[in-house]
Formats: sequence, structure tokens, C-alpha cells
Amino acid sequence: MTSASESPAPEKPAPDQALATRAVHPRVPVDFAGRPVSVPIYQTTVYAHDDIAVQKESLDNPRGAFGYSRMGNPTVRSLEEVVAGLEGGVGAVATSSGMAAIHTALGANLRAGAHLVVQNSIYGGTSGLLDDLRKRWDLGITFIDGDDPEQLAAALRPNTAALYLETISNPVTAVADIPVMTAVAREHGVLSVVDNTFASPMLCRPLSLGADIVLHSATKYLGGHSDVTAGVVVYAQEQQFVDGWKYAVGVGSTPDPFGAWLVIRGIQTLALRMGAATANATDLAERLAAHRRVTKVHHPSNPEHPQYSLAAKILDGPGPMLSYDVDGGADAARAVISRLKLIQNAASLGGVETLTMHPVSTSHRTLSDEQLAVAGIAAGTVRLSTGVEAVEDIWADLEQALDG
Ligand SMILES: *Cc1c(COP(=O)(O)O)cnc(C)c1O
Repeated sequence: MTSASESPAPEKPAPDQALATRAVHPRVPVDFAGRPVSVPIYQTTVYAHDDIAVQKESLDNPRGAFGYSRMGNPTVRSLEEVVAGLEGGVGAVATSSGMAAIHTALGANLRAGAHLVVQNSIYGGTSGLLDDLRKRWDLGITFIDGDDPEQLAAALRPNTAALYLETISNPVTAVADIPVMTAVAREHGVLSVVDNTFASPMLCRPLSLGADIVLHSATKYLGGHSDVTAGVVVYAQEQQFVDGWKYAVGVGSTPDPFGAWLVIRGIQTLALRMGAATANATDLAERLAAHRRVTKVHHPSNPEHPQYSLAAKILDGPGPMLSYDVDGGADAARAVISRLKLIQNAASLGGVETLTMHPVSTSHRTLSDEQLAVAGIAAGTVRLSTGVEAVEDIWADLEQALDG
């Protein structure tokens, strides 16, 4: 193979050097015949250059040579390129977590005193961050429904910097009307940012529907195995990409090469996992809806879902996330969860294993009754992140817990 470096790799350690010197200088194989089939983990923080002009460029250009791993790393860039390609963006910036992705996407576009329009009932970490930034940077924030262009038009101000949506919301799977909402934002020169974590690019590509920036908690479906914390921001415009990269470099939200590698590996089976888990969730949604202890099922496959037809239009499938309301409120929901054996009670989602949690006791515990009502969350709502196990085994566990 032709080497990407501008000079050949160093020679093997010279036998006339002292053992201490030879121990420090193993040969780094960069120029060898045969390409690695799997993306290697480039566990290096820094890169040597014979040409100082190339070295200088590596510090200023997100597409340039590698110089220092906070600015760019081959494993991380491989992740950025695959996600940018799946989402249809011009470039992507990988981050150390989903929250770092959100901060990178928004932080690079906010000035003190700016105004944001944000979808109701967003991810808890995001509302926490926005609340912090609101006080710190004197932001104005208006919350609206993600499928109501009139609320959006009424909320816009001359200093509105961005519209922030989630493709599918947590835990009641509200679907944002991305094409309609981003069109209104664009008309007013407002940037649209979409958290696409719950859909993944296999089910939705928000940039193709009018968004300017799409982001992921790669901790969830992209990684897919509950073993890595990471994030990615994908940009539709080159200048946005360059500004986002500079911001991430400054903040230092870069992921570790091993974390990036785990996400790359997860993405290789993303289509298979999303397909299998979505089929399981759709089956479970139907069975849950027919169970006497369940009063409501929140899943875009359910014809009673408020955005049933919108979901069919903008999503390539209803997705693996669902929630259901247990008759009897919070105590009944907690009792059902406590009887589960295969399904674990854990505060994350998007892995191969089915996980559950009780929003009112955990992620949404600080919301008032009024806020819960706006978000459509009942005391008895239970969230299910459907995995790829055999659906009969998942159902058997759910059924015995509900009947118990
Ligand atoms: C988990 C999650 C985040 C935050 O991601 P981390 O990787 O935990 O930082 C953001 N948005 C959504 C929708 C999430 O589910």
C-alpha cells in the first residue's frame, strides 16, 4: 500500500543503540503490503512530520494531515466519515459523549443573550444543559411542540439562533415534523439542529429533510452494545463543520480512539440491529396494547399514536423504543419492573439487550405534574428499549411481570 505519511517510517531500532533507547523506539509499521480490513485503533496522541508546513496545516484543517489527536486522529476520522456519509452531511465531528455533541452543536452557534426554540420534553441531560447555559449566557428559551409550525412561527424572535428538535422523543416517542419545522426555521434564517439518537440514520436522515445539523449520542444505537460513551455531530454546510470542529478542538470534546473504534464496529451492524429490534418492538407494542393491565402503548407503529401518519412518512420504520402505561400508577409500574428477570432496569437504551426504566422515578423525576402532562408521561409509564433477543423470550418476561 502507499503510505499516507510524507516520509517513510523510521528504520528498525539500531542494534548499536543502548537497550534503554531501543526499548523506547519500536518501529511503527505504517508502510507495509496488505491493507488492514478492520479500522486500526490509532492509539497515539501525536504524529511526527518531516515537513513543518504539513505539521502546521494539521493544526488548522479538519480534513488535513494528522498532527495532534485532539485535532484529528485516523480512527476518529474514520468514524466521522462513516457517520457523515450515512447522514448525508459534508463533514462530522465526533465527541466524547452525546452531551458533548449537543454542547458542540449549540455552543459554536450561540452568543450571550441569544434565543432558542426547543421542542417540549427533550432528553433530560439536554434540558439540564440548556437550563445551565440559559443562566450562564443569559439565553432566552421558548418550548414548543415538535410538530406545530404555528407555535414555532409565534415563538421566533429577531435574535433566535436555533430550533432544536429530537426526531423521536423520550419516553413517549413523539415524532418531530422535521420537514415542516425546518422549513419555517429556514424561512426566518434560523438554524435547525436535530438530535437523531432514537432513530439513527437507518430510520431517518434529518439533513435530507431540511435540518442544518444532526447529532447523536453514539452511546446508544450507533455503538449499540452498552459499552462506549461517545457522540457525533454532522453538518450540512462546510462553514458550520469547520466552526464546529474548531469549537470541539477548543473545548477538547474529542473521543478516545478506542471509543471511536467501538462505535465504528457497532455501526457495521446498525442496519441489522435496528431492523431486528424494530420488528421486536412492533410485535411487543401490539401484544402490550392487548394486555388487560396496559392502558396505553406509545410506539409509532400504533395507529393511535398522535404522529402515526407523520412517522410513516419520515421514518423508515417505527424504531425499537416504546413505552406503555400500566394501570395503577407509579407503584404498579415499579412492581412490574421489579418482577422482570431477563429485562434489566437500567437508565440507558439502544443496546442489543432489552432494558427498561420508570421515567417518573428516574429521568423525569424533577418534572412537575403539569410538565409531565405536557410531555404525555403518566405515573404508570414504563419505557422499554427493545433489544435483539428472541421476541418470545422478551414477551414471556413482560407477560409474567404484568400478570404477577
Ligand atoms: C443519551 C442521550 C443523550 C446524551 O448522550 P450521552 O452519550 O449520555 O452523553 C442525548 N440525547 C438523547 C436523545 C439521548 O438518549
